[in-house]
Amino acid sequence: EPISSPVEMFFFPFVGGGHQIPMIDMARMFAAHGAESIIISTPKHALSFRETILRDQQLGRRIFIEILLLPENIDIADTDMSAIPVTDTSMLQEPLKKLLLQRKPDCIVHDMFHHWAADAIGNLELDIPRIVFNGNGCFANCARENISKFKPHEKVDSKYEPFVVPGLPNRIEMTRSQLPVTRIVEDNMRKSKENCYGVVVNSFYELEPAYVEQFRKGNKAWIVGPVSLYNRNIADKAERGKKAAVDEQSILGWLDSKPPNSVLYISFGSSPRFAPQQVLELAYGLQASNQAFIWVIRDVFKGDGTWFLSEFEEKMKESEQGLIINGWAPQLLILEHGSVGGFMTHCGWNSTLEGVSCGVPMITWPISAEQFYNEKLVTDVLKIGVRVGSLDWLWWNMEPRVSVGRDMVEAAVKRLMGGGEEGGEMRKKARLIGEMAKKAVEGGGSSYVDAIALINELEDRRRINK
Ligand code: UDP
Repeated sequence: EPISSPVEMFFFPFVGGGHQIPMIDMARMFAAHGAESIIISTPKHALSFRETILRDQQLGRRIFIEILLLPENIDIADTDMSAIPVTDTSMLQEPLKKLLLQRKPDCIVHDMFHHWAADAIGNLELDIPRIVFNGNGCFANCARENISKFKPHEKVDSKYEPFVVPGLPNRIEMTRSQLPVTRIVEDNMRKSKENCYGVVVNSFYELEPAYVEQFRKGNKAWIVGPVSLYNRNIADKAERGKKAAVDEQSILGWLDSKPPNSVLYISFGSSPRFAPQQVLELAYGLQASNQAFIWVIRDVFKGDGTWFLSEFEEKMKESEQGLIINGWAPQLLILEHGSVGGFMTHCGWNSTLEGVSCGVPMITWPISAEQFYNEKLVTDVLKIGVRVGSLDWLWWNMEPRVSVGRDMVEAAVKRLMGGGEEGGEMRKKARLIGEMAKKAVEGGGSSYVDAIALINELEDRRRINK
């Protein structure tokens, strides 16, 4: 018999760019499937996704925002991923408890960085299923779990000596220089998963079936992505938490003027910072490749060298080789344009999955966090990308140091975009996987079915507990 009102799901994202964006999309996805989604945020951070939610409400979806107020109008600081070790959100615990008591939702989906939500629920002795979102795919989760369990990196002598990641369906080699250097993620992951009800993953079964199955051996998991595919109109695709720094129509117009698959899109996520010397090498490499490109430059320059960039920008504009976006880019709109034939990415999981969903092959340039794992998935498992050749995990490299030279940039661009057989094969394969991604979220697709299964399970719990 039907329950009297839709299941009420709380979504509690962490404030960093790559964490909040997919969680908001996920809340919208569950609302589109008939749940009531309530996004928990703070006054400042809620501003960044208010409009997207309003548009969903206009479509008749049950999706709402609940604001946690802190005393004396304090808010959680804006943060980029480099600030994670110092961003403590546990001051939100008391307001969250109040809200939980008041609304008694059917579940709470929270970011792993809010692992203290477990205490909040435990202290209240409420029976609210707690579901964790950690922002990564199953491949990265399995690789990380196996490395922390078997410690293969402790058996090699130097930081560049490869070791095989044990227990994975594919032979994957890594080096110590590519592993996350802090324990913070590991600790958060462990704490958040203790006694949790399950895990939601932004991925889709067909992308990494062997890894989904391995992950499911140790975790109750719903694989419900790619959630970015729930952005169906131009405004939602362009904004994603920030207003784009460029006029969408002018970008689309520029892309329209280029042949299919000819443009390389270059972006390093929501908070990249390269040393000026590194930016210079990238610029020279791009110019030498002669390939058309759109390059998102955000906050990269901490030091001298800006003169160089404005000159470069001007030159690229004149020759029509390249467009530079200074600020937030409408990434989804760009990636799905038919003129875009490659994506140079830092392999943040959201960007990786967005590239996959749009059927675009990649040039991988991982910098930190889980990005080296994601690179392995793209290049060694899916075989839809070429490595630029970055080797070291960097804390957003602020040192005057170059890890990828212009020759490496040029070579990678030519390999993927130069019309050779290898690049062509990768493009074909990427397109097929992109089609699978779209099927996964459509009616009857694997992610669709998983999302509905979670809603049904929550409905059943409500019937039993009544
Ligand atoms: N993004 C965007 N415009 C930008 C930079 C980033 O829309 O100029 C979005 C991108 O589409 C993705 C997210 O921000 O959804 C970045 O997440 P990812 O996991 O790739 O990297 P992170 O920022 O967490 O390192």
